[in-house]
Amino acid sequence: MQLTFAPELVRFRAEATDWLNAQLAGKFAHLRGVNGHAALIDERREWEQAMGAARWSCIGWPEAFGGRGASLAEQVVFAEEYARARAPARIGHIGVELTGPTLLAYGTEDQRKRFLPDIAAGRAIWCQGYSEPNAGSDLANVRTKAWIENGKYRIEGQKIWTSMGTIADWAFVVCRTQPGSVGPKGLSFLLVNMRQPRVMARPIRQMTGEAEFAEVFFDGATAEIADRVGEEGEGWKVAMGLLAFERGASTLAQQMHFRTELDEIIEAARHNGKAADPVIRQKLAQAHIGLKIMRYNALRMLSAAEDGAPTPEGYTYKLYWSQWHRDLGELAMDVLGQAGETGTDDGTYPPLQTMFLMSRADTIYAGTNQIQRNIIAERALGLPREPRG
Ligand SMILES: Cc1cc2nc3c(=O)[nH]c(=O)nc-3n(C[C@H](O)[C@H](O)[C@H](O)COP(=O)(O)OP(=O)(O)OC[C@H]3O[C@@H](n4cnc5c(N)ncnc54)[C@H](O)[C@@H]3O)c2cc1C
Repeated sequence: MQLTFAPELVRFRAEATDWLNAQLAGKFAHLRGVNGHAALIDERREWEQAMGAARWSCIGWPEAFGGRGASLAEQVVFAEEYARARAPARIGHIGVELTGPTLLAYGTEDQRKRFLPDIAAGRAIWCQGYSEPNAGSDLANVRTKAWIENGKYRIEGQKIWTSMGTIADWAFVVCRTQPGSVGPKGLSFLLVNMRQPRVMARPIRQMTGEAEFAEVFFDGATAEIADRVGEEGEGWKVAMGLLAFERGASTLAQQMHFRTELDEIIEAARHNGKAADPVIRQKLAQAHIGLKIMRYNALRMLSAAEDGAPTPEGYTYKLYWSQWHRDLGELAMDVLGQAGETGTDDGTYPPLQTMFLMSRADTIYAGTNQIQRNIIAERALGLPREPRG
């Protein structure tokens, strides 16, 4: 296991830090620390475009599509510096981290040429059309259907919990294209333009006060046949490949963001005297230890899998970080005490309260904790598959 970064990575880190700090001290200073998903959308679109213009948006992609061909280690270093600089949460993250790698792995050359440059340049925001009211953990139960009519796919159905659904330009949508098929068979993976009249996204308000996700209705919407990724009826393979990206390398760098949150909590504890409380002190120390464990585990995964493919320890990562982060949210509330129970006049909450509320979702999205345990049992430990009904 390598516990330090090579000199060229140290230089790369400095280059990234300089660019981020210059931007966030200048035109984009007001975006520093913006972490909700629904705030300052126009400004954050501009930020995505600035990143794209400087080729910092999708650094792991080939140069031909707007990337830098950066190694996995460089991607993690950049993401760490991004979090350290308190750059805004990225509204382009679904296109950057999910659509892009999926098209690079499973798309046609034509799809890559048409879609990747717009994502890298910050011109197209994407959303993920997987979950439905009866298909969440059991994604294979998808009922949204699509069939070919007049030379295009026609889509009918409903998705739910679609992050960025109200602002996205494009979606990837898992649809049932073989009538009468059940389970993972007969599904297709379609790229759908969200800016068409027969797509409606209705915001769902969350307990943070924001509406970061939406329910999305396809009422005769269309998609080009050329915009199907993978073979007709074999979308499951593509959908599962994408989940590996969602749970894989892209989460490795988030400890830097967690570090900033923990530091804010420690600062609050110093400020209001809770730092003298022996129980709070123990919990703060425990949070610090958990963060160190994540750090070393991330470095272990990085040295084990240069291509970002999950390693046996990688399977435990989502379960570990999501539980740790939920505990951190509760610790923030313990430290804030009564002050943590009030919001602001405009119905929003200050950063640590927002973090506490959002952290409740960490153990749900990208696979619930129960599903993560099944994955560890089956894929990392090789135990027999869970009996399916
Ligand atoms: C903040 C947030 C953002 C999201 N963004 C998106 C998005 O952009 N696009 C998208 O498609 N979806 C999105 N989701 C949806 C998310 O993927 C689903 O909520 C998640 O997969 C769980 O599905 P479900 O809500 O239908 O719960 P269910 O699958 O109904 O699960 C209910 C409970 O049963 C448990 N359970 C289910 N099956 C098993 C099993 N086999 N073994 C043991 N326990 C089981 C679950 O762990 C859970 O506790 C988002 C969710 C959240 C919270």
